[in-house]
Amino acid sequence: MGSFVGFKCKFCQYEEPSIGVGRGKAEVPFLTLYRCNHCLTIGSTWIHDGKIPRCANCYDDAIVILPDDTRRVNCPKCGEPAMITLKEGSWE
Ligand SMILES: [Zn+2]
Ligand SMILES: [Zn+2]
Repeated sequence: MGSFVGFKCKFCQYEEPSIGVGRGKAEVPFLTLYRCNHCLTIGSTWIHDGKIPRCANCYDDAIVILPDDTRRVNCPKCGEPAMITLKEGSWE
């Protein structure tokens, strides 16, 4: 089952309260966390075999994939250190 994480920056108040990550029933595709250097957001995108992952928001491929267990990341908006927290709930 996949899970949800949230991102919140204390400095600029940028927030993504619910980002789906991980695997559902199938092995692929799966949702992985990224930071987009184009539209400056944190989000998750589907990873398909052999395809370039793209930002779910602006569809640019200038994204940095973050490991599932990432808990500290610099805010894409203001660059200050921020936290990724595990949220309740799951998806299939
Ligand atoms: Zn920020
Ligand atoms: Zn983007």
